[in-house]
Amino acid sequence: MKNDYRIALLPGDGIGPEVVGEAKKILQVLESGMGLKLTLETAPVGGSGYEATGHPLPEDTLKTAMNADAILLGAVGGPKWEKIDFSLRPERALLGLRSELKLFANLRPAKIFSALVDASTLKREVVEGLDLMVVRELTGGIYFGKPRGIETLPDGTRRGVNTLVYTEAEIERIVKVAFETALKRNKKVTSVDKANVLEATGLWREIAEQVAKGYPDVTLEHIYVDNCAMQLVRAPKQFDVLVTTNMFGDILSDQASMLTGSIGMLPSASLGGKTAMYEPIHGSAPDIAGKDLANPLATILSVGMMFKHSFDREEPNLWIENAVESVLAQGLRTRDIMSKGMKEVGTVEMGDSVARELEKLIQ
Ligand code: NAD
Repeated sequence: MKNDYRIALLPGDGIGPEVVGEAKKILQVLESGMGLKLTLETAPVGGSGYEATGHPLPEDTLKTAMNADAILLGAVGGPKWEKIDFSLRPERALLGLRSELKLFANLRPAKIFSALVDASTLKREVVEGLDLMVVRELTGGIYFGKPRGIETLPDGTRRGVNTLVYTEAEIERIVKVAFETALKRNKKVTSVDKANVLEATGLWREIAEQVAKGYPDVTLEHIYVDNCAMQLVRAPKQFDVLVTTNMFGDILSDQASMLTGSIGMLPSASLGGKTAMYEPIHGSAPDIAGKDLANPLATILSVGMMFKHSFDREEPNLWIENAVESVLAQGLRTRDIMSKGMKEVGTVEMGDSVARELEKLIQ
């Protein structure tokens, strides 16, 4: 098995550099504990890319990303760049990376740590033991479909247009990712659509049925997106793998994240091309940036997903999850997951604590 990996670190803006800094400690523990050679290359992206070069996805950053075995991204964006042209906004860097690297599949696990069950806004019995995976299509659908834009009509009023478009091939490849994922889990795929209203998602349903024929051990169910939103807060444990379009997945995965207590807890993987990208699902949180308040756990858990999906090493992912679980069991909490009787710690102390636990687990 390969021992030598090149990892692109793209910290980005706001709390991005803080949480990636903690994840870097985890990478260093894995490097020495497992006898690996990790080459970590840091490059600016988002607002910091724009400040450095005038573009949110500088050419050199894209090159570093494309030449890496895997990418770890913090977060991009912030009030400083809200007024600049849409094409130069920090968030455009994410769309650029996803399309250049052909990252069409976004995997977002929503797994609750037992020590955090009471941090969820839902009742203990609804969320205890929750472990579901949202597989979101990432490079197609209404976020990319054409025609798009705002046009002025002959009568002088304006009309905004976006287009929901999916080809059979785009649907097939994302649904296959969902089935492959389900094979390694509880063997159930729920495909989310709005086939009663949107023809494009009627096609989605048809293709999902076709793909299912190749996976006789996996059960396929269909659900309308409105019902899915309701079921996610009513009885989320009925789901194993949810697969859906870009926009539905965007919304449902944020909803699923809150079942687990905090947006600061959830990692993600974007797969498809040669190099995959790993990132926390949260944004740059400008309100808490630079204050040692950010929860670094989502980014740390993203490192685990990197080892599992890009390096085909399951063990480091389990070690990281166990290290996080034991730090939480010791009562350590960043402010976003703080509850009565627990000890509040900052970003750095949380990162150091997980790194220490990880060291013990590797030995
Ligand atoms: P956000 O996720 O940055 O923050 C939402 C809320 O959650 C805030 O109150 C924030 O303090 C809190 N939060 C987020 N991450 C946290 C963490 N790790 N620890 C503790 N608390 C945390 O979303 P937003 O406020 O809508 O967006 C802020 C900026 O981030 C915007 O510029 C937006 O475009 C950008 N954004 C970037 C990404 C990304 O880089 N992938 C994703 C979403 C939003």
